[in-house]
Amino acid sequence: MTVPLLGLSAAELRHWVEAQGQPAYRAQQLHRWLYQRGVRSLTEITDWPRQWRTEVENFPVGRSQLVDQSVSADGTIKFLLATEDGQTLETVGIPSADRLTVCVSSQIGCPMACVFCATGMSGFARNLAVHEIVDQVLTVQEAFSRRVSHVVFMGMGEPLLNTDAVVHAVRVLNQEIGIGGRQMTISTVGVPGCITQLALHKLQLTLAVSLHAPNQPLREQLVPTAKHYPLERLLEDCRAYVQITGRRISFEYTLLAGVNDETAHARELALILRGFQSHINLIPYNPIEQADFTRPRPERVRAFEQELQRHKIAVSVRRTRGMTEDAACGQLRRRALQQAH
Ligand code: SAH
Repeated sequence: MTVPLLGLSAAELRHWVEAQGQPAYRAQQLHRWLYQRGVRSLTEITDWPRQWRTEVENFPVGRSQLVDQSVSADGTIKFLLATEDGQTLETVGIPSADRLTVCVSSQIGCPMACVFCATGMSGFARNLAVHEIVDQVLTVQEAFSRRVSHVVFMGMGEPLLNTDAVVHAVRVLNQEIGIGGRQMTISTVGVPGCITQLALHKLQLTLAVSLHAPNQPLREQLVPTAKHYPLERLLEDCRAYVQITGRRISFEYTLLAGVNDETAHARELALILRGFQSHINLIPYNPIEQADFTRPRPERVRAFEQELQRHKIAVSVRRTRGMTEDAACGQLRRRALQQAH
């Protein structure tokens, strides 16, 4: 299979252009058209001689197709994209005054099957390739006519089951598109061995680890794969990550009413994270059709947050964006799959 152009570095593009018998400066033009203007076909490159454009017209660029989108009242747009092999994936653009964040997917579906996550319920198809990850950022950039400033790997999939492509995509986003390393976040629920593997890349990005519970038995109920990765070992790997990279870790904790939202849970959480340079991000549950959890009332969320603060833990509550239209990830795709059957 021919590797698409999207995802290639400036040097690799130069190689490609030269292999086509063209002068090297065409590679700079190609780079601009690919990463700034978001071409979908090489025939669109009007700087190039018509004859050459015709010769390379079928060469794959690596862009996906927009199948559906839903815009919510706060300006968040969720896109449903189709890949070349007819799979669908979601990506979300989240605008604010000073930033445009893209929530990217790293896999089609997800094998981790966390009990409150819509993506896990649609099963798992495959890992995404580098160009399919980069394409999501270009799609959002195009739709908002604005540069993407932040990228979070918090869409569909478990990024650390696809570490090679994710790390490669991070490099492309940084070097070819110009998104700062520190403006990117990879979120993982934890895969044995993979946090350390990621640490060795010494990336500038933020690692976010999805905890959701302060002890092993409760975590296993919410995150089935935790059975094979005891909390203690996960936290050891997180400590090693901080040591190797010199970067802080942030922990995510989805709050489910009556399940993991007691102040006693907050205390226990503070205890296991003692001495850790960390930050906790509380995510009040986004209701999904397929699960019957409920979102805790705001005062419960506040009490949980205050308990952590009392223990000197840095904490923030994630503001829910895009609540009007199937906010939780995986839902737009699920609706599309249901309609197709
Ligand atoms: N696989 C990665 C990325 C998942 S999405 C991971 O597990 O970290 C990012 C965060 O959203 C994760 O913490 C995930 O557990 C959480 N999440 C998924 N579905 C949710 C829902 N319905 N409500 C609230 N948080 C949810």
